[in-house]
Amino acid sequence: MQEEFQRQPAEMTAHPASGPAGRTTATWSECARLAAWPLLLLMLASAAVPASAAERGAGTAAESTCPQAPALVAGATATDLADVCRGVQSALAFFASHGIQATESLSIEVTDKLPPEAGPSAAGCYIAQKRRVYVVPYDAFRKNKTWFGVAIDRSLYRALAAHEAAHAVAGCSFRIPNPTIQAQEYLAYAAMFSTMAPALRDKALRATRTQGFDDIERFTPMLYMFDPMRFGAEAWRHFSKAPDRAAVLRAVLEGRQLSDR
Ligand SMILES: [Zn+2]
Repeated sequence: MQEEFQRQPAEMTAHPASGPAGRTTATWSECARLAAWPLLLLMLASAAVPASAAERGAGTAAESTCPQAPALVAGATATDLADVCRGVQSALAFFASHGIQATESLSIEVTDKLPPEAGPSAAGCYIAQKRRVYVVPYDAFRKNKTWFGVAIDRSLYRALAAHEAAHAVAGCSFRIPNPTIQAQEYLAYAAMFSTMAPALRDKALRATRTQGFDDIERFTPMLYMFDPMRFGAEAWRHFSKAPDRAAVLRAVLEGRQLSDR
């Protein structure tokens, strides 16, 4: 299982079951229409507070709001909640620093049973149709021992949460229908690596074989499918050396880069 995990570790964070042709991704307008949470109110909350039954609607799992981010998290232990919230917060900060604001609050579930779309070895996924992020509990995540060649600890768990949160934010920020899998993963990995402490990021990059792409079009569905860890590390290397990172983000979100057209 561990071997399998290390050979195809990206299945942890991504959505390998359906592949690019089978992905359904929300458009920006759909997300904006569904924006229902008062983001400012949530941003002002000072502590993780269990949501009331009325706030949860018909949901049954215990939900908490993140103290510094517009996100509702269900099913997390207190420690996992803190890490997931920090991951979400850092992903939102990444996009905000490049002029992209989340258009709706995030819905996150911490669960041992990920949706089947995530694949059997996944540790997290974002289901666009449900507008919901899923991540496994930390205790399940750490059973895989390593991620990006680095021993799993709480900081990598926060990175996992940041990766999936980035999918959710990007999913509502695309200006085109059905963005490609390479566009979605490029953004999620760029966001994720940006949230890592430099020492951790360097360690992960050193442990992942990369060559450095000059051309963004080298991020292909095939690379993601067959070497997702390299895809992620290359995404960060490419993004981080761009002279205008915000322009790269906009180009991908608007379908001018990494699209099939
Ligand atoms: Zn992903």
